[in-house]
Amino acid sequence: MTALEELVKESEVKPVEKKLAGATANLAPDIDDDEIPLYAPRRKIYPQSVSGTFRRIKWSVLAITLGIYYLLPFVRWDRGPNAPDQAVLIDFPSRRFYFFFIELWPQEIYYLTGLLILAAIALFLMNALAGRIWCGYMCPQTVWTDLFFAIERFFEGDRREHMRSDAQKWTVKTWAFKAAKHFTWLMMAWWTGGAWVLYFADAPTLVKDLASGNAPFVAYLWIGILTLTTYTFAGHMREQVCMYMCPWPRIQAALTDEYALNVTYRYDRGEPRCSVKKAEQLHAQGKPAGDCVECLQCVHVCPTGIDIRDGSQLGCIQCGLCIDACDNIMSKLGRPTGLIAYDTDINIKRRLEGKQPFFKLVRMRTVLYAAIIAIAGGIMIYTLATRDSEGISVIHDRNPMYVRMSDGALRNGYTIRIVNKRLKSRDFIVAVDGLPSTLVDYVGLPPRADGRQLVTVGPDQTREVRVMVTDYATTPPAPSTTVLFRLIDIDSGEVAEMRDHFFGP
Ligand code: SF4
Ligand code: SF4
Repeated sequence: MTALEELVKESEVKPVEKKLAGATANLAPDIDDDEIPLYAPRRKIYPQSVSGTFRRIKWSVLAITLGIYYLLPFVRWDRGPNAPDQAVLIDFPSRRFYFFFIELWPQEIYYLTGLLILAAIALFLMNALAGRIWCGYMCPQTVWTDLFFAIERFFEGDRREHMRSDAQKWTVKTWAFKAAKHFTWLMMAWWTGGAWVLYFADAPTLVKDLASGNAPFVAYLWIGILTLTTYTFAGHMREQVCMYMCPWPRIQAALTDEYALNVTYRYDRGEPRCSVKKAEQLHAQGKPAGDCVECLQCVHVCPTGIDIRDGSQLGCIQCGLCIDACDNIMSKLGRPTGLIAYDTDINIKRRLEGKQPFFKLVRMRTVLYAAIIAIAGGIMIYTLATRDSEGISVIHDRNPMYVRMSDGALRNGYTIRIVNKRLKSRDFIVAVDGLPSTLVDYVGLPPRADGRQLVTVGPDQTREVRVMVTDYATTPPAPSTTVLFRLIDIDSGEVAEMRDHFFGP
């Protein structure tokens, strides 16, 4: 029997049997709402493998994203002798975040906040253009679940084989394959947790320390936590994370509009559903017959086990696999593809009204989101490119607020913190503007051979110095005078400024 004949035969199976075999919805129309249970136990899903354009896109995205995640900690980036050479590193002990040529200090954490806001707006833009495209292709839950499905199929076979072996009495072979699957899942989960901790320390060194048992306890703890969560979420909970735990489907539903592309079943073309044979009979009688042959392939390949023909629903992660499945069927039957396709609600309505479909990607909301991304991204890039490589903060002594010297001059004490963000040692002086005649003296800092007092700050470091500012003016200052502290790099002339007060009687 050819594949097409098998398909035609399958399409003639009684609808009730098909519902039991896979469909989740399709509730009989006469069921009273009161009879629908509020809680339905989880039905194990056996997604069938499928080939096609969207499956290839998903494999490519999976390979790229997992490749980046697992290998990025080993990418080196030369920052000179005074900084780590790991391209992406979250260095908690030194309180630094390194991302290739960018180094962020704790006081610049707002850049990360900005990145999170940009990511959120990008998600909104994706949603306005193509619905839950993030969920279907790039979300870590989707990517790891896809990987775990592939491992499961490798050991336990595709949908039918797997369902059959689960339904039968388990043999030694069944147990062995299940054990091998869970072991491989655990290895992948462990590798996932292991890769995560490599972002927080020098990766090659940490790998050696982990292997020799000399890594910090917290590294083993995080690997354990992430191994467990990955194994549970991707191996066991799968679609339940998307349907019950993730807030994005609810938020997305509130953000979408009728022009957004979504995976859509074309009712106008598919209904009334009927087998190939029945369609031929109906056509012969001059009656209409839809293109959907009720083969349920779109349901069988769905990783969340839903029937897209029931309309847009929370469980649909917009992965497009049902499009591939249906296109394969349509091609085998010699009918046009696209019975399930990325389409918009407005086009469904237009087709039912006999109008031509149209797509409107440039809309007020897409333009607005794109503009926010461009403006916020531009501001972030500009401020990053022009940010100071030095910084100063000043804290006035609390007690005493001022001291009257024996010669009548007034003196105030300050603690000054100097930041050197360059990867080389730098010499600074501190000048104070705002008073007519001042002398700045650094406590405990001996003058150099040329008599100058310079504050040397090591590469990529901060240093605190105590500074005494004495005002020798003959006219007594106001009780509080605003003064400007200027930190000057004596080699480059670069300046950082900070305002504070000079107190008098
Ligand atoms: S929509 Fe396509 S894949 Fe789904 S049951 Fe109909 S013909 Fe089969
Ligand atoms: S209905 Fe289609 S697009 Fe939606 S999750 Fe299932 S296979 Fe993916």
